[in-house]
Amino acid sequence: MKEKINCKIVQDLLPNYIEKLTNDETNEFIEKHLQECSECKRMLDNMLKKLNVENSKEEKRKIKYIKKFNMKLKILKNILLIIIVLFIVIIGRKAFILTDLSNKAQENQNNENYYIKLESYSEGQIRITEAYYKQQKSLVKINSYSKNIGEINQVLYKSGEEKISLIDNGKTKELKKMGEISVRPIAFTSEFFLENLYTAFTTSIDKVRLNGRDCYLIKDGNTEKFIDINTGLAIKMIDNENNRTVDYKYEYGIVKDIDIERPDTTGYTAVVE
Ligand SMILES: [Zn+2]
Repeated sequence: MKEKINCKIVQDLLPNYIEKLTNDETNEFIEKHLQECSECKRMLDNMLKKLNVENSKEEKRKIKYIKKFNMKLKILKNILLIIIVLFIVIIGRKAFILTDLSNKAQENQNNENYYIKLESYSEGQIRITEAYYKQQKSLVKINSYSKNIGEINQVLYKSGEEKISLIDNGKTKELKKMGEISVRPIAFTSEFFLENLYTAFTTSIDKVRLNGRDCYLIKDGNTEKFIDINTGLAIKMIDNENNRTVDYKYEYGIVKDIDIERPDTTGYTAVVE
């Protein structure tokens, strides 16, 4: 009978014994009983066996989870890498296009004889600019008309050190000295790679046809700029924010001396600013 009572006590203690929660005295009691009682010993063996199976199942689950996690991480890393590479390729391609256009434009900008015509239209305003350039001398005629101001004719003349501006607004005729007069074919691209890289980041660049010519359309939020692929020069600009359109035309080698003659300044009053 005593044995049976001991069996009950030992069997109650076994789970704690396995978990090593029992104290030394209790352990001694349990171990002594186990040596004598085959039933309790078998029970302990079964419990240990079951525990081992559960532990190994848990272990397998953990390994499977880690493997799965590592796989996901690897896929994520690869996706990120692909995105970075694509980004670099796309931006690099655009920066390359802009640099190429800039190189072509510079060749044309360095020409010693050219004529440029700009036609700008915006709401209630028309502005036509014709620029003649021949061997450092330049003459620019600007004719503008707006609903509010009316017609204004301006002539900019540069020869050597003389840089003057003549303005005729229909009522007064004024002559002013100018700081600098620059008339170069318009490129929209930069001689500096970093500037082109910035443009590549902030704009979209697509190959399109305009007026029968191959060109690149450089588009940011509000403006659309069309650049001739062959010359690298601006063909058209659309400013959607200000409803303004500008068309550009260029001709080379046609400017004669008569086109860049000093304009007649009689009747103009010199104005000092
Ligand atoms: Zn027993």
